[in-house]
Amino acid sequence: MSNRITLLPDHVANQIAAGEVIQRPASVVKELLENAVDAGSDTIQLIIKDAGKTLVQVIDNGMGMNSKDIRLAFERHATSKINVAEDLFALNTKGFRGEALASIAAIAHVETHTRVQNEEVSHCLKIEGSKVIEQTLSTQPKGTSIAVKSLFYNIPARRNFLKSDTVELRHIIDEFHRVALAHPELKFLFFNNGVELFDLPKTNLRKRIVGIFGSKLDPLLVPIEETTTLAKLTGFVLKPTHAKKTRGQQFFFVNDRFIRSPFLHHAVCNAFEGLLRPGFKPGYFLYLELNPKTIDINIHPTKTEVKFEDEQSLYAILRSAVKHSLGIFQVMPTLDFEQNQTMDVPYAFKNKVPSTPPIEVDSSFNPFQETTSKRKPKMEQWEGLYSGIQSSPLEEVTHSSPLVEVPQATRVFQLFSKYIVCPLRTRMLLIDQSRAHQRILYERFLSAITSKKGVSQQLLFPITVSLNSQQEAQFKSSEEILEALGFEIKYDKNALEVMGSPEHCPPGKIESLIETLLSETDQDTGEEHFSHADQVAKAMAKSLSIHSGQSLELEEQQRLLDDFFGCKETAVSPFNKQIFITLEKGEIEQKLS
Ligand code: ADP
Ligand code: MG
Repeated sequence: MSNRITLLPDHVANQIAAGEVIQRPASVVKELLENAVDAGSDTIQLIIKDAGKTLVQVIDNGMGMNSKDIRLAFERHATSKINVAEDLFALNTKGFRGEALASIAAIAHVETHTRVQNEEVSHCLKIEGSKVIEQTLSTQPKGTSIAVKSLFYNIPARRNFLKSDTVELRHIIDEFHRVALAHPELKFLFFNNGVELFDLPKTNLRKRIVGIFGSKLDPLLVPIEETTTLAKLTGFVLKPTHAKKTRGQQFFFVNDRFIRSPFLHHAVCNAFEGLLRPGFKPGYFLYLELNPKTIDINIHPTKTEVKFEDEQSLYAILRSAVKHSLGIFQVMPTLDFEQNQTMDVPYAFKNKVPSTPPIEVDSSFNPFQETTSKRKPKMEQWEGLYSGIQSSPLEEVTHSSPLVEVPQATRVFQLFSKYIVCPLRTRMLLIDQSRAHQRILYERFLSAITSKKGVSQQLLFPITVSLNSQQEAQFKSSEEILEALGFEIKYDKNALEVMGSPEHCPPGKIESLIETLLSETDQDTGEEHFSHADQVAKAMAKSLSIHSGQSLELEEQQRLLDDFFGCKETAVSPFNKQIFITLEKGEIEQKLS
């Protein structure tokens, strides 16, 4: 019997590989655009005819290829981007498999012109169905042009399988959007049948989004920014009012690569919880930067799925950051301010005296918090988050920049020694000073406890607090939390000697505060660290907050608002009381009509 097994000829193997990578003209567009980006180009042109069925051409001004490289580029597994397996875990390029060009050349007519910067001549290579037809010299500008004609000419079944031009063009535009959104720093041009569809100059992300989707999106973009040791997150979400029923503008990029992740999508949806009508989906353009070692992109032929090492923490970071920004913009819609003023410089608190950035942990992560009746996380949702908050990366979660423009100092004023009035362009906020301050302190203390990074101030004269036996027992179970908050306490039979206290804690209040803390938490079973921490944070916030009836200097009012608008939650106090009301200009006008 003759051998049953034979090696497939290369061109057949290539066709099979092509089936995985190249499914339709849009796949060619994706691969060619990504190669152009990888080549370090700064201007990239996409030219297509008949929705890519007749022609897909990409012209770049990148590094080009020499006479040897141009041949190798079309060999299978020929890549300049990785050498050893380890490189797979430190990828900085889009490509790395070295099979796209080989696959494309197996199922189309491909004409390449390329020139490296210092060479005088360019090289031209024509390939049809994996066969080199012609290699000549020419005089083209620096960079590379690859034209892919008659896609699937040798696989009629595939060609017939293609959808109408409208559908195929839609897919191509989608791919184009993804690459253009990943690289606002590059110029892109796109022509279909000789008609210019896009001319996108080099710009910043906000303008790139607007350049692609139109200026109506500009006022709807809510900036997101978060830096943690695990990941950097930037980008925008669309205001909840703009949510659509259909899947629309939902973009995740990881290290500048578009990816799909139902899991991270869920995190964003979760942050929008309560803000969207049922069935509506949020829009977003979110960019994660992670150490390439912590992700695996090699799990899917088109590289749009990624495995993350620490998915739970990413989920928590995303949810928290989006929630935070939505919170701010709910209170202070951007429409109320001059738009674009802070567009390129997202850090809006420019005039603030720099201070050590506080470590903040989303208060709503606290699964035992009783106050959030309206926004209580569902069981299965917080479980994942809780596991994240206990691990170290989350403790590093910091909000690098509260992205709001603060109202001008002269415009706020105090009313009845109880409220701060904050007039905006089309509305007025009336903020309960005591509740707002409770919210600020609560978040601060809770994050100090969770991160164990409470800042301590030394007391000039240590304070002694005597304890009864119940308080003594209570102290023992609270000691760790008090320390995390910044208390420096020496315990000596029946008494505490307080040598240091948390920031913002006036020495005159320390004794009563300790007494409150050791009594207010005595209901606690001690079983749940978080529940205990929450109670302590609440008790501290209550004791140390500004009271109703306390008159405040303009500067104090201003600082209070600054801090308040930086809170993760702005709707309710830690005791679930509404913090502010808004009065719309229209309402006032109606009342006075
Ligand atoms: P990969 O991108 O995975 O390396 P490809 O088959 O897409 O594989 O490309 C093979 C090689 O050809 C690349 O590694 C690169 O060296 C070269 N190449 C492809 N396109 C370009 C381009 N536009 N400019 C310069 N070099 C290119
Ligand atoms: Mg490639």
